[in-house]
Amino acid sequence: MDNDCIFCKIANGEIPSSTIYEDDLFRVILDLSPATKGHALILPKKHMANIFEMDEETAEKVFVLASRIAKAMKEALNCDGLNIVQNNGEIAGQTVFHFHMHIIPRYNDDGQQINWVPKTSEAAERDMIAEQIKNVLNK
Ligand code: AMP
Ligand code: ZN
Repeated sequence: MDNDCIFCKIANGEIPSSTIYEDDLFRVILDLSPATKGHALILPKKHMANIFEMDEETAEKVFVLASRIAKAMKEALNCDGLNIVQNNGEIAGQTVFHFHMHIIPRYNDDGQQINWVPKTSEAAERDMIAEQIKNVLNK
């Protein structure tokens, strides 16, 4: 646990939160400034700043939990859709540097946007990028 980290304190129950789920490894809370009704955050109890610091066992469990939360939200809140968002690094919009996964229920009239601007790309460029990543994955 990182003593200067607010999400460590929330995840480990030192600071109260609207908790919707808790086990040995995770706490799932409602976001303080929700994008929509039910916007939740999955927090690992162990401090890790971002996905680059996350071990594979935790990573597997995060997504299993995300799918359970999503289905519970669908039933409980009757949402029309749902976004899963997970920001890593300031440039990616991360503001709290303890890994968290946003589970954001979406409603037809919610007025929110989670968007990027699509750009064009060339086949040769895509092939080169794919090669660069594959080389690391197959190392
Ligand atoms: P991110 O921009 O991905 O780092 O998201 C940080 C999220 O944490 C934002 O949606 C905030 O509203 C939320 N947040 C910050 N402080 C708290 C807190 N004390 N309790 C619950 N949510 C928080
Ligand atoms: Zn932390």
